Amino acid sequence: MTRRNSANRIKRNRNYTVIDISETLGVHPKTVRNWIRVGLPVVDKKRPLLINGADLKVHFKHKRKAIMFDCDEHEMCCFRCKQPMKPSIESVLFIAKPAGMAHMKGVCEECGCRMNKYVSWRNVNDIWLELKGKLPIAEKHIILRGQNLLNCPFGGVFSDEK
Ligand SMILES: [Zn+2]
Repeated sequence: MTRRNSANRIKRNRNYTVIDISETLGVHPKTVRNWIRVGLPVVDKKRPLLINGADLKVHFKHKRKAIMFDCDEHEMCCFRCKQPMKPSIESVLFIAKPAGMAHMKGVCEECGCRMNKYVSWRNVNDIWLELKGKLPIAEKHIILRGQNLLNCPFGGVFSDEK
C-alpha cells in the first residue's frame, strides 16, 4: 500500500498519538516526531502529544506539494505559479500554533494567490529578514492568540508599537 493510500485511513474527526500514527501509517515514531518538528500541528502541549486527523491530512497535502516545489524557508508554494514563490511582505502573517509552531500566511508577490505553510517560531525572525523585513516584526504581522509559546523569539517585539 502506498503512503498516499494509507493516509486515507486517518480520520478527520479523531485525535492521534504519535504511536497511533506510526502504527496506522507504518512509519517510525521518529518520523512522526520529525513531522511535528517541521510543522505538523499538535492539539496542545500536554503529553502524550495528540495530533488532529484533519491536521495530519492537511500536513500530507502540503508536504507532497512542498517536496514537489522544494521551498526555501522563506518561500511558500504558490499553486498558481506552480513553484516556490516569495510572499509580498505586507501580506505575511504569522499565527501562533501550539508546540512552538507558527502558521505562516501570505499572498504570492507575482500572482496574488494565497499561500500557507507551517514554520517554527524560532525561524520566524530569519524568515522575516530573508523577506527583507526589518526587525522587530510589527504587531500586525503576528497573531499570538494568547498562547504561551515555546521558543517564542518576540519578548520585546511590541514595545515600539504601543
Ligand atoms: Zn503565484
